[in-house]
Amino acid sequence: MHALANLIDGRSRAPRAGGYLDVVEPATGQTFARCPDSDATDVADAVAAAARAAEGWARTPADVRARCLHRLADAIEARLEPFAAAESQDSGKPLALARSLDIPRAIANLRFFAAAAVQFGGESHAMEHGAINYTLRLPLGVVGCISPWNLPLYLFTWKIAPALAAGNTVVAKPSEVTPYTAWLLGTLLDEAGFPPGVLNIVHGTGPVVGEAIVTHDAVKAISFTGSTRTGVAIASAAAQRLKKVSLELGGKNPAIVFDDFDFSDASMATIVRSGFANQGEICLCGSRLLVQRTIYERFREAYLERVRALRVGDPLDASSQLGALVSGAHFAKVMGCIDRARTEGGTILTGGRRVDVEGRCAAGWFVEPTVIEGLAPHAATNQEEIFGPVVTLIPFDTEAEALAIANGTPYGLAASVWTRDVARAHRFGAKLDVGIVWVNCWMLRDLRTPFGGSKQSGVGREGGFEAMRFFTEARNICIDHGQ
Ligand code: NAD
Repeated sequence: MHALANLIDGRSRAPRAGGYLDVVEPATGQTFARCPDSDATDVADAVAAAARAAEGWARTPADVRARCLHRLADAIEARLEPFAAAESQDSGKPLALARSLDIPRAIANLRFFAAAAVQFGGESHAMEHGAINYTLRLPLGVVGCISPWNLPLYLFTWKIAPALAAGNTVVAKPSEVTPYTAWLLGTLLDEAGFPPGVLNIVHGTGPVVGEAIVTHDAVKAISFTGSTRTGVAIASAAAQRLKKVSLELGGKNPAIVFDDFDFSDASMATIVRSGFANQGEICLCGSRLLVQRTIYERFREAYLERVRALRVGDPLDASSQLGALVSGAHFAKVMGCIDRARTEGGTILTGGRRVDVEGRCAAGWFVEPTVIEGLAPHAATNQEEIFGPVVTLIPFDTEAEALAIANGTPYGLAASVWTRDVARAHRFGAKLDVGIVWVNCWMLRDLRTPFGGSKQSGVGREGGFEAMRFFTEARNICIDHGQ
């Protein structure tokens, strides 16, 4: 069985205490690798290596840092197939999705922040009575990056790339559920030209390795993507040490379909994708589908026809649009949520059951795309994140009612609005209490834009120069030069 290793100070290292976790292929239920079950001593080694490398990396010219990031992107691009295969095997997602979304986006993240490294700069402000301020944007030193399992390499690189571009050294922890592609990336750092210690990758569980990174005094900031519950734990631990945090957390995103919806193939396909892409395991998925009552029945029938046609199956099969859920525990959680929806009085219009896939995937964790109606907006099913292939339909009459329902959860990550009325799109978009609004589209990403959530969906913004600002300390210098 292949054993992954930590990457500390440019070297592959077994965990000090020698413990390992099973890495399971969700489509088959079989263990295919082992990942270090590291502890605080491994984190301390990684932080020490990152601290030793910090000054040198901070002084490295931005264009040299950028070249390292570009070479890392090139190295992954040259191995797109093995990376995509590993991502699919580790997470259960269709290979076609890993090939078209996850790995290309990881490459794009690295290239984007390579460009940001050489574009980012400080500001200056001249004062009328003869003084000038200039603001340095200095690297923080050692920073921690902690990422989740749903888009493993995509989100891992989304964090480490701006951290490195801004001149920090990094101790990173991928999810223990999907550690494989982060490990693979670590094997390419030398080829990309990164000095030892600039990026360290420590594998292990959240409560042990994650917490050790968050609470280590030499780690100046934490960039975290994951559940709201973990985000709260990290914010509490970081607050004791007044550490900077960026938290990208859960969502219960609405998709709002107004009665002037165009019913085109492209729009319907996007709405279906927004609910079920990656088995619904994307923080941005629209899991509450609000539909204006005047078109509710027509929309429901058109929508159900498409959802029933979705193919769930072996992630390696090119015809599979949904693969397996990421783990047995997550499968049980999602099935529990579907049962709760029944108990709450919801009607399952389609789906609701396990999918039995024959052959090598007989023991995999596959769930039917599920659509539920008949639940009040305040029902638990409509309030809590499920993070699986489950969408609820909710009718509404007026724009005001749609807004109240859309904003009526503890979350505020993203929303999509479907209308041909431009004035309404602007008016409504501005009132949605979320960080990201898409109008007549979904998950259309420009990496320069601020990305993040309000309410329980997070603190801070990532993306573009927002990320570069997060990963730097602003130091203002004021010089009085007289008139
Ligand atoms: P999770 O919170 O369980 O784990 C995320 C990461 O945090 C993992 O690496 C985990 O090991 C680590 N961790 C767990 N406990 C920790 C602790 N006490 N201290 C430090 N680190 C700890 O989340 P998950 O189940 O891996 O991911 C799914 C969640 O992520 C969903 O809620 C989803 O909405 C959210 N998510 C949000 C975004 C976003 O951009 N807002 C993107 C993707 C996923």
